[in-house]
Amino acid sequence: MATAVTVPHYSESETLLARLTQAGIDASQIRFVINSHLYNDHCGVNRFFPQATVLLHQSEYDHAVGMMDTGKHGYMRDDFCGDGQTVEMIECDDSYDIFDGSRLRLLSTVGHTPGHQSLQVTFPSGRQFVMTGDALYTSRQLATRQPLGLVFDKREALASANRLADLGEKGATILIHHEPGIWSE
Ligand SMILES: [Zn+2]
Repeated sequence: MATAVTVPHYSESETLLARLTQAGIDASQIRFVINSHLYNDHCGVNRFFPQATVLLHQSEYDHAVGMMDTGKHGYMRDDFCGDGQTVEMIECDDSYDIFDGSRLRLLSTVGHTPGHQSLQVTFPSGRQFVMTGDALYTSRQLATRQPLGLVFDKREALASANRLADLGEKGATILIHHEPGIWSE
């Protein structure tokens, strides 16, 4: 359905399921699916992980479902979860510890959308990564702390950009989903 509004530029071998196979991981081993937000370029393969729990901010889900009838939105209801899939709704508090003493932690980075979230990953070595979703689009936005572009709430988006930039200054590697230069490194 997403191809109605965006044209994917992936080959079959570059899709998420293919990448997992290449990494030796069976999709059935995946315990959690985390979407930064529900725009169709950030979810849509949730149903291929039927055993996994989808972690969503309640406010993102409510907003996405509310937008379904407006005619102009980036949300596709069928993308959110498969039939019978477990979806755990999380209140938009400051953070959500997924497991093992904050090694995987959800950060509330609302602004781009009402329930946007980022994922903080801390390895046993202490090395830390933060996956920003669309709370930031580019490295320039990280450097200037200015989240321009499509923004639901500008003040919230600014606070989230600052939060992510602060984590970067403390040593976390900030992974910005739409910044190809970061991924090639
Ligand atoms: Zn996006």
